[in-house]
Amino acid sequence: MNLNLQGQTAVVTGGSRGIGYAVCEALADEGCNIAILYASNTEKAEAAAAAFAEKGVKAKAYLCHVENEEDAANTVKAVKEEFGRIDILVNNAGITRDKLVNGMKEADFCDVIDVNLKGAFHMIKNIYPLMAKQRAGRIINVSSISGLMGNAGQVNYSASKAGLIGMTKSVAKELAPRGITCNAIAPGFVSTDMTEKFAEDESVLSAIPLRRMGKPEEVGALAAYLCSPGAAFITGEVIRIDGGMAM
Ligand code: NAP
Repeated sequence: MNLNLQGQTAVVTGGSRGIGYAVCEALADEGCNIAILYASNTEKAEAAAAAFAEKGVKAKAYLCHVENEEDAANTVKAVKEEFGRIDILVNNAGITRDKLVNGMKEADFCDVIDVNLKGAFHMIKNIYPLMAKQRAGRIINVSSISGLMGNAGQVNYSASKAGLIGMTKSVAKELAPRGITCNAIAPGFVSTDMTEKFAEDESVLSAIPLRRMGKPEEVGALAAYLCSPGAAFITGEVIRIDGGMAM
């Protein structure tokens, strides 16, 4: 594919593993430089950056807890100094703390909202001024079909992912005059560490019309398309990638 992303710089939160890794890989394959943000596993993040650098792009890993306002601001500053510009932001970092509502502690609720929703706000707030100056930018928020359909045991997670959809539409309206698009991707079950326990679960597979889990690289390909010139007229959209599960 030639999506014309040579020389651009992408910030991908949670880019060291799973879907985020695949998004970075798809962007690096198109010549995009990559700043990976991660929360705990330095070895994995450094290995990911080394793998992307082998494709001939610049890639660097940054330890950054996106839910922490100061951490997010300092990291964006460091990325800008290192890469010179930021063209693409993919808010992909996400966590789960699944419990039925009567057993869900306030901390389980707040931790998930903080990382999944507030983290995206911090990143957008710090990065959009750079994009606005360039009169161009692409923001992608990784939501979930849980944010569209709800899911028992995920009151916190589905609230965060539905919140991301509202945030996506508001940001799209606010930043369109600056040449910035903002879209959400809503994956269904995708094979990563997060969903390992469902891989052989017949009740999950039978709820997916295509009868399989998605592959991270399928989400990566969609994200790369949304960053390409061909997707310039798409904004405020929520694209399901779920094997038909939420239709
Ligand atoms: P994953 O394999 O668990 O990877 C999570 C990534 O996020 C890791 O790179 C992790 O870094 C990073 N991270 C976690 N907390 C962070 C924080 N506070 N600040 C910065 N980075 C943080 O997850 P995944 O399955 O690829 O999911 C990626 C996104 O897709 C999430 O938003 C998830 O909700 C969404 N999603 C996933 C599925 C699915 O089926 N997998 C379905 C729908 C939506 P460390 O390893 O260093 O901790």
